[in-house]
Amino acid sequence: MTTAITEAQARDAVVAAVRRLDALGMNRGSTGNASHRWAAGGADGMLITPTGMGADELQPADLVWVGVDGRVQGAWQPSSEWHFHQAVYRTRPELQAVVHTHSTHATALACLDRPLPAFHYMVAVAGGDDVPLVPYFTFGTETLSRAVGAAMQARDACLLAHHGLVAAGTSMARAMKVVQEVESLCEVYLKALAVGEPVLLNAAQMAEVIDKFKAYGRTALRQG
Ligand SMILES: [Zn+2]
Repeated sequence: MTTAITEAQARDAVVAAVRRLDALGMNRGSTGNASHRWAAGGADGMLITPTGMGADELQPADLVWVGVDGRVQGAWQPSSEWHFHQAVYRTRPELQAVVHTHSTHATALACLDRPLPAFHYMVAVAGGDDVPLVPYFTFGTETLSRAVGAAMQARDACLLAHHGLVAAGTSMARAMKVVQEVESLCEVYLKALAVGEPVLLNAAQMAEVIDKFKAYGRTALRQG
């Protein structure tokens, strides 16, 4: 399903993702974080960005390894939001990368306590007919982690009420595609909402798109 990568490649992918989010203006201050699944010494876990470090100073060696049991290896403290990254990996064994941002449009929608509905066919990029909204819980808590894990069971992205956006993928490239697409869709949705109530696609229309995306995914795997 995924191509095995080295630890150095996993670290580079996380650093490149954070820098890219910063360049795109999606990483507000040092609030964004990213991780890659990584087993260290046979123990399952992830490599995640440290807390409070800006994208411009982040180096691959700064990433912190956090095991599924919460064990930490590294020179810094892991992002205070590592719990929900871990919840995503636990819920979806096939996912390899998780990205979290407080990007403007996704966060604005999440502050209206609204999910992103099927107003545009590209909403299917997250694997279903909406990008669900996780209710508000304090950052870094087990309650928030459980809620994110539940929301991501059948989706590759979710909004966090009064907080931001989480996206994941079978590779960092895929997680980055989803996070950028959802942020962009939230921008369009907010603009449409400013004029009226956007008309939604029906379940059959969305199911057809979801099937097409799955077929593209299989083609991409065969080719690459
Ligand atoms: Zn956050």
